[in-house]
Amino acid sequence: MPLALFGGSFNPPHVGHLAVAEACADAGGLDTVLWMPAATAPHKQDDPTLASAEDRLEMVRLAIQGNPRFEASDLEIQRGGVSYTLATVRRLAGRYPGEDLVVILGGDSLNYFPSWRNPHGILELARLMVYRRPGSELANAPDWVRRRTTVVDGIPLHLSSTHIRNRIAQGQTVRYLIPEAVRQLVEAKGLYQM
Ligand code: ATP
Repeated sequence: MPLALFGGSFNPPHVGHLAVAEACADAGGLDTVLWMPAATAPHKQDDPTLASAEDRLEMVRLAIQGNPRFEASDLEIQRGGVSYTLATVRRLAGRYPGEDLVVILGGDSLNYFPSWRNPHGILELARLMVYRRPGSELANAPDWVRRRTTVVDGIPLHLSSTHIRNRIAQGQTVRYLIPEAVRQLVEAKGLYQM
Protein backbone atom coordinates (compact mmCIF):
# COMPACT_ATOMS: atom_id res chain seq x y z
CA MET A 1 0.00 0.00 0.00
CA PRO A 2 1.39 3.41 -0.92
CA LEU A 3 2.94 5.66 1.70
CA ALA A 4 2.63 9.38 1.16
CA LEU A 5 4.69 12.34 2.29
CA PHE A 6 2.81 15.61 2.71
CA GLY A 7 5.36 18.30 3.44
CA GLY A 8 4.86 21.98 4.08
CA SER A 9 5.39 24.81 6.51
CA PHE A 10 1.92 24.29 8.01
CA ASN A 11 2.11 27.81 9.38
CA PRO A 12 -0.66 27.15 10.39
CA PRO A 13 -2.36 24.01 9.01
CA HIS A 14 -5.80 24.87 7.55
CA VAL A 15 -8.81 22.99 6.28
CA GLY A 16 -7.41 23.20 2.74
CA HIS A 17 -4.46 21.03 3.81
CA LEU A 18 -6.86 18.51 5.33
CA ALA A 19 -9.07 18.37 2.25
CA VAL A 20 -6.02 17.95 -0.01
CA ALA A 21 -4.54 15.10 2.05
CA GLU A 22 -7.89 13.33 2.40
CA ALA A 23 -8.71 13.58 -1.31
CA CYS A 24 -5.26 12.25 -2.26
CA ALA A 25 -5.48 9.44 0.29
CA ASP A 26 -8.82 8.44 -1.18
CA ALA A 27 -7.89 8.76 -4.83
CA GLY A 28 -4.59 6.96 -4.38
CA GLY A 29 -5.71 4.29 -1.93
CA LEU A 30 -3.01 5.60 0.40
CA ASP A 31 -2.46 3.70 3.61
CA THR A 32 -0.66 6.44 5.44
CA VAL A 33 -0.12 10.14 4.84
CA LEU A 34 2.88 11.43 6.77
CA TRP A 35 2.42 15.11 7.53
CA MET A 36 5.90 16.56 7.71
CA PRO A 37 6.40 20.13 8.89
CA ALA A 38 9.61 21.51 7.40
CA ALA A 39 12.26 22.77 9.81
CA THR A 40 12.81 25.58 7.31
CA ALA A 41 11.34 25.38 3.81
CA PRO A 42 13.95 26.23 1.14
CA HIS A 43 11.83 29.10 -0.24
CA LYS A 44 10.86 30.49 3.18
CA GLN A 45 14.24 30.91 4.88
CA ASP A 46 13.74 34.53 5.94
CA ASP A 47 10.06 34.33 6.81
CA PRO A 48 9.47 36.45 9.93
CA THR A 49 5.95 35.01 10.30
CA LEU A 50 7.21 31.43 10.71
CA ALA A 51 6.02 29.96 14.01
CA SER A 52 8.45 27.71 15.88
CA ALA A 53 8.94 24.17 14.63
CA GLU A 54 7.48 22.86 17.90
CA ASP A 55 4.32 24.94 17.55
CA ARG A 56 3.83 23.93 13.92
CA LEU A 57 4.32 20.25 14.76
CA GLU A 58 1.83 20.55 17.61
CA MET A 59 -0.68 22.31 15.34
CA VAL A 60 -0.32 19.51 12.78
CA ARG A 61 -0.87 16.89 15.49
CA LEU A 62 -4.03 18.68 16.59
CA ALA A 63 -5.25 19.18 13.01
CA ILE A 64 -5.02 15.50 12.03
CA GLN A 65 -6.21 13.89 15.24
CA GLY A 66 -8.92 11.30 14.67
CA ASN A 67 -7.96 10.49 11.08
CA PRO A 68 -6.50 6.95 11.08
CA ARG A 69 -4.68 7.49 7.76
CA PHE A 70 -2.85 10.63 8.91
CA GLU A 71 0.36 10.69 10.95
CA ALA A 72 2.57 13.57 12.01
CA SER A 73 6.31 13.17 11.52
CA ASP A 74 9.10 15.22 13.08
CA LEU A 75 11.77 13.81 10.77
CA GLU A 76 12.57 17.14 9.08
CA ILE A 77 12.34 19.08 12.33
CA GLN A 78 14.74 16.64 14.01
CA ARG A 79 17.12 16.88 11.05
CA GLY A 80 17.03 20.67 11.35
CA GLY A 81 18.38 23.22 8.85
CA VAL A 82 16.79 23.68 5.45
CA SER A 83 14.39 20.82 4.66
CA TYR A 84 14.97 19.36 1.23
CA THR A 85 12.39 16.83 0.04
CA LEU A 86 15.16 14.83 -1.63
CA ALA A 87 16.78 14.07 1.74
CA THR A 88 13.42 13.15 3.27
CA VAL A 89 12.42 10.85 0.42
CA ARG A 90 15.83 9.16 0.60
CA ARG A 91 15.36 8.59 4.29
CA LEU A 92 11.86 7.15 3.77
CA ALA A 93 13.06 4.92 0.93
CA GLY A 94 15.78 3.58 3.24
CA ARG A 95 13.39 3.03 6.09
CA TYR A 96 10.65 1.41 3.96
CA PRO A 97 12.46 -0.47 1.19
CA GLY A 98 10.27 -1.43 -1.77
CA GLU A 99 7.44 0.84 -0.60
CA ASP A 100 5.45 2.77 -3.21
CA LEU A 101 6.32 6.32 -2.11
CA VAL A 102 4.11 9.25 -3.05
CA VAL A 103 4.76 12.96 -2.54
CA ILE A 104 1.58 15.05 -2.21
CA LEU A 105 1.74 18.59 -3.59
CA GLY A 106 -0.58 21.47 -4.32
CA GLY A 107 -0.62 22.69 -7.91
CA ASP A 108 1.43 25.78 -7.05
CA SER A 109 4.22 23.61 -5.64
CA LEU A 110 4.22 21.43 -8.76
CA ASN A 111 5.16 24.48 -10.81
CA TYR A 112 8.26 25.02 -8.70
CA PHE A 113 9.11 21.32 -8.52
CA PRO A 114 11.60 21.32 -11.44
CA SER A 115 13.68 23.93 -9.58
CA TRP A 116 13.82 21.91 -6.36
CA ARG A 117 17.07 20.20 -5.32
CA ASN A 118 17.59 17.21 -7.65
CA PRO A 119 13.96 16.71 -8.76
CA HIS A 120 15.03 13.78 -10.98
CA GLY A 121 16.45 12.09 -7.90
CA ILE A 122 13.14 12.59 -6.07
CA LEU A 123 11.22 11.07 -8.99
CA GLU A 124 13.47 8.02 -9.04
CA LEU A 125 12.28 7.20 -5.53
CA ALA A 126 8.74 8.60 -5.44
CA ARG A 127 5.85 9.64 -7.64
CA LEU A 128 3.71 12.74 -7.22
CA MET A 129 0.05 13.30 -6.49
CA VAL A 130 -1.08 16.83 -7.18
CA TYR A 131 -4.21 18.61 -6.03
CA ARG A 132 -5.15 21.54 -8.23
CA ARG A 133 -4.91 24.92 -6.60
CA PRO A 134 -6.71 28.06 -7.83
CA GLY A 135 -4.28 30.30 -9.68
CA SER A 136 -1.85 27.58 -10.72
CA GLU A 137 -1.75 25.92 -14.12
CA LEU A 138 -0.62 22.28 -14.23
CA ALA A 139 -0.10 22.27 -17.99
CA ASN A 140 3.26 23.99 -17.48
CA ALA A 141 4.89 20.96 -15.89
CA PRO A 142 7.51 19.32 -18.12
CA ASP A 143 6.91 15.83 -19.53
CA TRP A 144 9.42 14.11 -17.25
CA VAL A 145 7.46 15.41 -14.25
CA ARG A 146 4.01 14.69 -15.69
CA ARG A 147 4.92 11.09 -16.42
CA ARG A 148 5.35 10.55 -12.67
CA THR A 149 2.34 12.64 -11.61
CA THR A 150 -1.28 11.81 -10.86
CA VAL A 151 -3.62 14.79 -10.76
CA VAL A 152 -6.39 14.67 -8.17
CA ASP A 153 -9.46 16.66 -9.11
CA GLY A 154 -10.94 17.97 -5.90
CA ILE A 155 -13.00 21.04 -5.06
CA PRO A 156 -10.83 24.13 -5.70
CA LEU A 157 -9.85 25.58 -2.33
CA HIS A 158 -8.99 29.24 -2.32
CA LEU A 159 -7.33 29.13 1.07
CA SER A 160 -3.76 29.50 2.26
CA SER A 161 -1.84 29.84 5.51
CA THR A 162 -1.05 33.38 4.40
CA HIS A 163 -4.78 34.20 4.34
CA ILE A 164 -5.15 32.71 7.81
CA ARG A 165 -2.18 34.61 9.26
CA ASN A 166 -3.42 37.86 7.76
CA ARG A 167 -6.89 37.39 9.17
CA ILE A 168 -5.51 36.65 12.64
CA ALA A 169 -3.22 39.67 12.49
CA GLN A 170 -6.24 41.83 11.59
CA GLY A 171 -8.34 40.39 14.40
CA GLN A 172 -10.75 38.63 12.02
CA THR A 173 -12.24 35.25 12.78
CA VAL A 174 -10.62 32.08 11.43
CA ARG A 175 -13.18 29.77 12.99
CA TYR A 176 -14.01 26.93 10.53
CA LEU A 177 -11.01 27.83 8.36
CA ILE A 178 -8.61 25.99 10.63
CA PRO A 179 -9.49 23.03 12.87
CA GLU A 180 -10.96 24.16 16.18
CA ALA A 181 -8.18 22.60 18.28
CA VAL A 182 -5.60 24.48 16.19
CA ARG A 183 -7.55 27.70 16.57
CA GLN A 184 -7.56 27.30 20.32
CA LEU A 185 -3.81 26.72 20.44
CA VAL A 186 -3.19 29.74 18.20
CA GLU A 187 -5.31 31.85 20.49
CA ALA A 188 -3.81 30.53 23.73
CA LYS A 189 -0.28 31.18 22.47
CA GLY A 190 -1.09 34.44 20.71
CA LEU A 191 0.42 33.18 17.46
CA TYR A 192 0.37 35.38 14.33
CA GLN A 193 -1.05 38.35 16.18
CA MET A 194 1.81 40.65 15.12
P1 ATP B 1 1.63 29.91 2.76
O1 ATP B 1 0.41 30.73 2.44
O2 ATP B 1 2.25 30.26 4.09
O3 ATP B 1 2.64 29.88 1.62
P2 ATP B 1 0.29 27.36 2.16
O4 ATP B 1 -1.16 27.57 2.46
O5 ATP B 1 0.69 27.32 0.72
O6 ATP B 1 1.17 28.40 2.99
P3 ATP B 1 2.07 25.17 2.90
O7 ATP B 1 2.24 24.63 4.28
O8 ATP B 1 3.19 25.93 2.30
O9 ATP B 1 0.70 26.05 2.92
O10 ATP B 1 1.60 24.01 1.92
C1 ATP B 1 1.88 22.64 2.07
C2 ATP B 1 1.37 21.94 0.82
O11 ATP B 1 -0.07 22.07 0.73
C3 ATP B 1 1.91 22.51 -0.49
O12 ATP B 1 2.18 21.44 -1.40
C4 ATP B 1 0.77 23.38 -1.00
O13 ATP B 1 0.80 23.51 -2.42
C5 ATP B 1 -0.44 22.57 -0.55
N1 ATP B 1 -1.63 23.42 -0.35
C6 ATP B 1 -1.85 24.30 0.64
N2 ATP B 1 -3.05 24.90 0.49
C7 ATP B 1 -3.62 24.36 -0.64
C8 ATP B 1 -4.86 24.58 -1.35
N3 ATP B 1 -5.74 25.48 -0.92
N4 ATP B 1 -5.06 23.84 -2.47
C9 ATP B 1 -4.15 22.94 -2.91
N5 ATP B 1 -2.97 22.71 -2.29
C10 ATP B 1 -2.70 23.40 -1.18
